[in-house]
Amino acid sequence: MANRYWCGECSFKTPWRAETEGLRRQLEHYADKHPGTPPGGQIETRRKYPNRGYGCLFLAAVALVLLTAVASCQH
Ligand SMILES: [Zn+2]
Repeated sequence: MANRYWCGECSFKTPWRAETEGLRRQLEHYADKHPGTPPGGQIETRRKYPNRGYGCLFLAAVALVLLTAVASCQH
């Protein structure tokens, strides 16, 4: 998951980064461009693999069906 920090004072945005690095960049920007202003703005979040959870669920379902099929063959 990546985050992008938007400056609340100007149109500055950090590049997409991990949360801690994005926050650090935002603080650096404020220290550099808006000294004395408490850091604000907003955080934009992007998920790298939005379908990953569903993929796992699908595999679990397939495994369950296979197990059921194997179990019913043994009777
Ligand atoms: Zn700014």
